[in-house]
Amino acid sequence: MARKKLIAGNWKMNGLLADGVELAKGVAAEVKKLGRVSTVEFLVCPPATLLTSVKKALKGARVALGAQDCHFNLKGAHTGDISPAMLTDVGCSYVILGHSERRADHGESNALINKKAVSAQAEGLKAVICIGETEAQRDAGKTLEVCREQILGSVPEGSTNKKTVIAYEPVWAIGTGKTPTAADVQEVHAEIRKVLSKKLGRAVANKIQILYGGSVKPTNAKEFLSLPDVDGALIGGASLKVEDFLGIATKVL
Ligand code: PEP
Repeated sequence: MARKKLIAGNWKMNGLLADGVELAKGVAAEVKKLGRVSTVEFLVCPPATLLTSVKKALKGARVALGAQDCHFNLKGAHTGDISPAMLTDVGCSYVILGHSERRADHGESNALINKKAVSAQAEGLKAVICIGETEAQRDAGKTLEVCREQILGSVPEGSTNKKTVIAYEPVWAIGTGKTPTAADVQEVHAEIRKVLSKKLGRAVANKIQILYGGSVKPTNAKEFLSLPDVDGALIGGASLKVEDFLGIATKVL
């Protein structure tokens, strides 16, 4: 069966209550207008403070709710953290893990991301595990090597397509307006699928959605979303405007 395209918005640390609700309502209204489109899935990942109100604002629309991180424990003495159980409790079905901003700002390692993913998956969340090389690694010709290592280290054994999405996000392309060529993206995605295949088996790897992320806009979306191993997009900046987010989605309808 063909993999569906997942159009996912990562709002990052943006949005106060009123803005977040307005954005979510706007996305919900536009997705409802699309009617029953069975080949595309929608996801928004607002900051933790907005999860409950965004969930309400999305009511009746085919848009899933995700968080941007979680702890690996289900509860306990972890000040400032949020557990997978708390995320499912407020209606999340996805959680982004290992975004490069968390790897950089919070020193998250592949091993920690793996541990978080195990816990999130066990709690019923789909883990969107992010990987991608820095500009220096790219310039040193190490893109594939870095991505291989991140996949092997951060994706839990036994992961399936029901519990796992991979997002390839070259760090140098995030929020910069710079993007790799379509051929480069396809090469990396095909390599990711090969590594997943060795790790999880071919049948599972063929079903796992691999998203591209990094300065995706309505103007360049088609170029990436039409590649054989690109199964959607993880969108930062352009997910903060209803017309841009939907403008990307309509490229795969
Ligand atoms: C992201 O943060 O996941 C991202 C891809 O950001 P942007 O689309 O703004 O580059």
